[in-house]
Amino acid sequence: MQAFEVKAPHDYHLVNMDPSEPGDGEVCVRVAFAGICGSDMHIIHGDNAFVQFPRITGHEFAGTVERLGPGVSGVEVGSRVCVDPVISCGQCYPCRIGRPNVCSALEVIGVHRNGGFGGSVVVPADNIHRLPDHIGLDAAALVEPYTIAANVLDRMQPHPGDALLILGAGVIGLTLLQMARAMGLDTIIVTDVIDERLAVARELGATHVLNGTHDDVESRILALTHGEGVPLIADAACVPALLPQMLRLASPAGRIGLLGFSATPSELVQLEVIKKELTLVGSRLNNRKFPEVLALIRDGQLDPLALVSHRLPLREMPDAIELLERHPESTRKVLIDIGA
Ligand SMILES: [Zn+2]
Ligand SMILES: [Zn+2]
Repeated sequence: MQAFEVKAPHDYHLVNMDPSEPGDGEVCVRVAFAGICGSDMHIIHGDNAFVQFPRITGHEFAGTVERLGPGVSGVEVGSRVCVDPVISCGQCYPCRIGRPNVCSALEVIGVHRNGGFGGSVVVPADNIHRLPDHIGLDAAALVEPYTIAANVLDRMQPHPGDALLILGAGVIGLTLLQMARAMGLDTIIVTDVIDERLAVARELGATHVLNGTHDDVESRILALTHGEGVPLIADAACVPALLPQMLRLASPAGRIGLLGFSATPSELVQLEVIKKELTLVGSRLNNRKFPEVLALIRDGQLDPLALVSHRLPLREMPDAIELLERHPESTRKVLIDIGA
């Protein structure tokens, strides 16, 4: 069976792999679709401190249960599932207070363990979520990116009627936009530096779009909020240099949700934080958000397939990577059709 393996930074190829057997409490999932994420690109480029090589990446995937390990009940062979990549210990401080996504012994499927870009993958049975009947396996591969959005919005504690500024109109920016609309937020401003991406954000319901290269983002946003600033800011651009601007654009009592993984320091002016009593929160992966996202997709409140720009077979994975690197203006989620 073929799998996409990153052997070392910048060294990746398709390999033949024997499927592994599920152990106690595990199941083997035959992968149907897997999405390529920005963080897969970081692993490929050697910018992910957590990964050990060689690694079969992929943490956004859906498929069918193929085999059950000993002691697994409540799931049958043939069930259609998607997989929460977060594996936690249940014992440490964050686990004890209900924050398993920052477990001290955190393991992420596709980062610390082999993931979805193989024909089949062994995962803990606790990590699978059965799909409602009419959610396709392609759409289900996008549940994970929506859980990123659900998690950061939860961390930011929106109030009804709060305006939301989303920095970045890539896939995570767009999942945030759809999630925010599903939650009933009605003023959603999206910024990016690529007009094509902003056009998609507009189509998906952004009320205002601004291009940081030719719009005066700060004065426009202050005008839109009557000089008050924005109560909710979600950073899906993940550019460390933007933090000072986020602090300036936040309203008093505003909440800023950070998703970036950069080790580059950002400048933080304490005065802005204290005088407005801002809340800055980090958000990592997701804290048990799969059921909520699946319910929103089932109810037609989210449109995962609108985020898919390309579908390619696994054998074209190297081309898919090149496509994502060269064409940020025309790529959104690139889905790998594992069975094709
Ligand atoms: Zn991802
Ligand atoms: Zn733990």
